[in-house]
Amino acid sequence: MLLCPRCAEALDRVFGGVAVCVGCQGAWISQSALDVAFGNPRWPAGRNMWWHAALDCPECATEGTVTRMDARSADAIMVDLCPSHGVWLDHGELARLMKLEAGADELLALQRKVNAVPDPDGLAQRRLRWRTELDKRRRQTAEFRAWLEMAAQRKAAEAAEAERLRAIEDEKRRQVREAQAASAAEIARVAEEKRQAELARHQRLMKQRAEIAASMNVLVREREAARGHLASVESQFAQHEKALSEIDKELDAPKPNPK
Ligand SMILES: [Zn+2]
Ligand SMILES: [Zn+2]
Repeated sequence: MLLCPRCAEALDRVFGGVAVCVGCQGAWISQSALDVAFGNPRWPAGRNMWWHAALDCPECATEGTVTRMDARSADAIMVDLCPSHGVWLDHGELARLMKLEAGADELLALQRKVNAVPDPDGLAQRRLRWRTELDKRRRQTAEFRAWLEMAAQRKAAEAAEAERLRAIEDEKRRQVREAQAASAAEIARVAEEKRQAELARHQRLMKQRAEIAASMNVLVREREAARGHLASVESQFAQHEKALSEIDKELDAPKPNPK
């Protein structure tokens, strides 16, 4: 069911691809009907005047999407056109675009172009029905709108559920990433500890080495001094030995006569 983009009443499909609003008598003409009637699925040609765009495409609505129709100025008449589906013409606009004489029936003229066999009686009967069945149609329209509303709510609920599941998945992935990061941090921490320990050991050995080297410098100087002292002691010892042996030699010489 299509709803009138102007007054939200139900549209009545009157003949191939053409539906008329029961309330405002505006007409929805599908691209296929436009193609048959005017040789152009995007009839009427005109200038796009987007700032006048105000109506949503009734066929896009049945697919669950809201498409603001293009506003197009054709022969100074503002028409609303969905690039995928068709054109909306308010009551009387079709007659002006088709340049019909005053009082001519625009739907009948269109039916002549769309249908090989126009049916004026059928159209008249439909118009009579529109007047008598308006209340019933309004009820149907209300039911349809309620159904659309419900479908939209169901869609929203499904989207919310999908969003919730996605959030859970995201959280799981985040936790895995966090755990991976934590274990990487632990590995890095252990490596850093090892590096610090090796550095400390190296520094300790360098310090010990420096202390021992300093101590060896002292010992070298002491050894020089001791060697000097030993040389002097040995030289004195040699002198003493020499003096002793000379004295002993003289003592062995013939003793002087004591007188
Ligand atoms: Zn309407
Ligand atoms: Zn559309």
